[in-house]
Amino acid sequence: MTTDRQPTTCVAVIQCEVAHERCTGIQCAMGFADREDLFAAYGDEVRYYVPFPCGGCPGRRVGRLAHQIKRIMQKRGIPLEQVAVHLSSCMAFESGHYPPCPHLADIRLMLTRKGFTRVVEGTHLSPQAEERRHAGLYRPRPGQASGPDAGSP
Ligand code: SF4
Repeated sequence: MTTDRQPTTCVAVIQCEVAHERCTGIQCAMGFADREDLFAAYGDEVRYYVPFPCGGCPGRRVGRLAHQIKRIMQKRGIPLEQVAVHLSSCMAFESGHYPPCPHLADIRLMLTRKGFTRVVEGTHLSPQAEERRHAGLYRPRPGQASGPDAGSP
């Protein structure tokens, strides 16, 4: 992704620990490889894809694992502005399995305090969940029109 700041060298993805019981994260990994959904804007400049689960409520492992990423990036001379951290769709949005993570704001704060300024909500988007969001069955994603009348005058 080319931003107004710096190119993206590393994309980290935090996965809900509860969702991780039933999901390896393969859809997100494939979505990243194919540059789909919330990964669509990235180009070939991204060298590292680093997925990790949050560690359980209220994001117990996020601070420690984010700190490790920070340490390794600094060791390699990669500024944290070149690291984008995605809060996976299983955390950020309602789906048929879970409501959105109730600790999103705190997890964001933790990341910001560690120096990660580029935090993105979402990763792979399930077509079925998207359909249900549009139909008004689930809460819409931020910026997404929803409901059967969405888009009508
Ligand atoms: S609900 Fe939030 S804090 Fe709890 S396990 Fe899932 S992502 Fe982590």
